[in-house]
Amino acid sequence: MYNGNDYYCWIYCRYLERLGVTVGLYIYETHLHTKESSACSILSGAQQARIYKKAGYAGIIVTDHFFNGNSSVPRNLPWKERIDMFSAGYENAKEEGDKIGLSVFFGWEANYKGTEFLILGLDKQWMIDHPDMMSWSIEEQYKNVKAAGGYVVHAHPFRIRPYIKEVRLFPDYVDAVETRNVGNGNIEFDRQAAEYAKKHNLPAFAGTDAHGYEKERIGMGFNKKINSIQDFIDNVKQGEYQLISNI
Ligand SMILES: [Zn+2]
Ligand SMILES: [Zn+2]
Repeated sequence: MYNGNDYYCWIYCRYLERLGVTVGLYIYETHLHTKESSACSILSGAQQARIYKKAGYAGIIVTDHFFNGNSSVPRNLPWKERIDMFSAGYENAKEEGDKIGLSVFFGWEANYKGTEFLILGLDKQWMIDHPDMMSWSIEEQYKNVKAAGGYVVHAHPFRIRPYIKEVRLFPDYVDAVETRNVGNGNIEFDRQAAEYAKKHNLPAFAGTDAHGYEKERIGMGFNKKINSIQDFIDNVKQGEYQLISNI
């Protein structure tokens, strides 16, 4: 991906655009798991960072399964130790990202009896400070995450799987809807999610739900480099992005 601005490259980029090729976009993965703390992922944070750098992404948001989801973190440890273990995939990805030039942001995927949410904009310390978060309802989660300046995305709202028995929608307790998810493996789930987002006027997200098995990646593209997870959220709120498939 070329992001420079000298004259000849500018001409080349316009030529590519006429051919229908998107250029000059900064692409971010919004839904990614690492094997350090997601029981279902086969790649470490550092491996994920290298793969995404090679694929041309500008950054990734690490969203490992929280303790109420498919987490590999033991339940019988003190809260802080559990959060340290939970954050290891992000930290390893971040360390590698800093070396190779890939932005790495923190998030997590919370699970309420099969209904899942990507929580963005908060950090590890906030989790350490809220050991009661496991007892929250979906409504309480939204209230507390918003009060701290975070952002809630309903992940794959129409996915049906053995671990997701029914579709449950909470338009008043989310800020955005994941309307494209490679892990769904079902275009109909994506179509219903897009319709749902539109109906409630909620921003649409695209995420690979990367666990290391997927053949295709997707993401969200911005015209400028994103400096922080808060910067990411601000740009989404302003609608200054596009959903990108087939990366
Ligand atoms: Zn998983
Ligand atoms: Zn996921």
